[in-house]
Amino acid sequence: MVETLALEKQMRSIGKIRRAVVKVGSGIIAGDGVIRLDAIERLAGDVMALRDGGVQVLMVVSGAVAGGYRDLGCPKPPTLVVERQAAATIGQYKLMSHFASAFGKRNVNVAQLLMTEDDIENRRRFLSARHTLHMLLERGVVPIINENDPLADDEAKVGDNDHLAALITNISTSELLIILSSVAGVYRDQEKGEIIHEVAVNDRLVEHISTNKTATGVGGMTAKVSAAKLASRWGVPTIIADGNTPGLLSRIVAGEPIGTMFQPGSNRLNSRKRWIAIRHKSRGTIHVDAGAHKAIVERGASLLPAGITNVVGDFPIGARVNIENSDGQVFAVGLVSYAAGEIKRMQGHNKADYETVLGYKYVDEIIDRDDLVLMTGDEIKEIDS
Ligand code: GLU
Repeated sequence: MVETLALEKQMRSIGKIRRAVVKVGSGIIAGDGVIRLDAIERLAGDVMALRDGGVQVLMVVSGAVAGGYRDLGCPKPPTLVVERQAAATIGQYKLMSHFASAFGKRNVNVAQLLMTEDDIENRRRFLSARHTLHMLLERGVVPIINENDPLADDEAKVGDNDHLAALITNISTSELLIILSSVAGVYRDQEKGEIIHEVAVNDRLVEHISTNKTATGVGGMTAKVSAAKLASRWGVPTIIADGNTPGLLSRIVAGEPIGTMFQPGSNRLNSRKRWIAIRHKSRGTIHVDAGAHKAIVERGASLLPAGITNVVGDFPIGARVNIENSDGQVFAVGLVSYAAGEIKRMQGHNKADYETVLGYKYVDEIIDRDDLVLMTGDEIKEIDS
């Protein structure tokens, strides 16, 4: 945890940001299965204050399930997946209509974007989302984003909106992530009400993380901290703060130390590598020998067929795969230039053998260095920095 002076400096730099993602949890938006109009009113006012200060704002808003389950006839937050999906179809349009009216009164339009894991995995859809969001921001509209809960099953989901908000920070090229929740931040000592004001990238927080969750929210503090650490990997600071406090957004951007702030990491990946790194699902694994491991890690080499010892999974060209060394550690992820079957046939062969073994060649590399991101424990390192 760093000293106050450094914190003040960090907060001042926040005062210069131009684009921020504000994530609002279900616990703020709804209570007892009913959407809280006063909370939406207050948030709209807060977001307007930020915009008046020159900051473009995107919102990631939870509460589709929390604000819809009563209308579905459930007396309490449902646990059945299909009931949650159905509740979300109701809650989502209600949320949007309330936000539309709260912002409408202030002469601002809102837009809805519902996304799932697939939209992030597919680079064309990912870029399409980026362009759409940038256009909305350019035209002064407030994008309001949620997971596409009604359609995505658990397999296809990002899962929690804290994570989704971190991804949206990347997709929208925002410079700050603010997570508003029902708690005031990460507590050093919950009983004494002491908040940890600043967290550095490598600080261990496990012992400070309460595992309590609200009944309708998904993530709890663990998800918030993991989202904050993800954003910090691409150089974006995150603030976790109490979303029930009025005027909080402007105070944060004015540089007041509020809640818990996660410092941005200094290890910035370029935009394409960020996209490779952020997806949490790989489609398969390529095992490599010690020589290939060394060449990739120490020399920033591409992955060539000669160093490959095994291929696990059935994946197409362009899929993201893990690269595992002979000690069983995944030390990198990357996008393949050949499909699994082709790589299996080429494994152990020299790059001069493509024509003889496959009968054709697209490129020499199985994974080009530009499509490869190194991972070291908790960190992701760019190969050619
Ligand atoms: N997408 C869910 C909803 O709007 C909430 C997910 C979460 O709480 O993280 O109901």
